[in-house]
Amino acid sequence: MLCPFCREKDTSVVDSRPCEEGSAVRRRRLCTCHGGMRFTTFERIQFQELTVIKTNGKREPFDREKISKSVRIATRKRPIDSETIENFISKIVMKVEGLGESEVPTPKIGKFVMEGLSYLDKVAYVRFASVYKNFKEAKDFEQFLGDLDENKS
Ligand SMILES: [Zn+2]
Repeated sequence: MLCPFCREKDTSVVDSRPCEEGSAVRRRRLCTCHGGMRFTTFERIQFQELTVIKTNGKREPFDREKISKSVRIATRKRPIDSETIENFISKIVMKVEGLGESEVPTPKIGKFVMEGLSYLDKVAYVRFASVYKNFKEAKDFEQFLGDLDENKS
């Protein structure tokens, strides 16, 4: 990286450490100009701007907090520690961002969460699925549980 002071010389990295909980790297750089100018750079991942398309056709910015909220509701009082839940949410977010699409329909995100929860915790999975699939009748719910058993056997 060129020095912002002399704009000529390539600078050297004197210190490099993770910050923002590991999602960025902070680098102290040094240029020999003017008796050794120092400056700091930050390197972080630039994600594409993501838009979510809701089932009613409305669009809104992708929001990790929304996934987080529904996962927390589904896993409430389950024997899963908060770190595991945080990691789980991060994985879902990475999966969504990893699609490389600028617009993602909510059912696709829901599917990722469902798939993930089916491995993480069966009760949480059923809870999430019951909301996600928007069951209105107990019959539908039983049907769904039936499908679940079939899939697992
Ligand atoms: Zn310089």
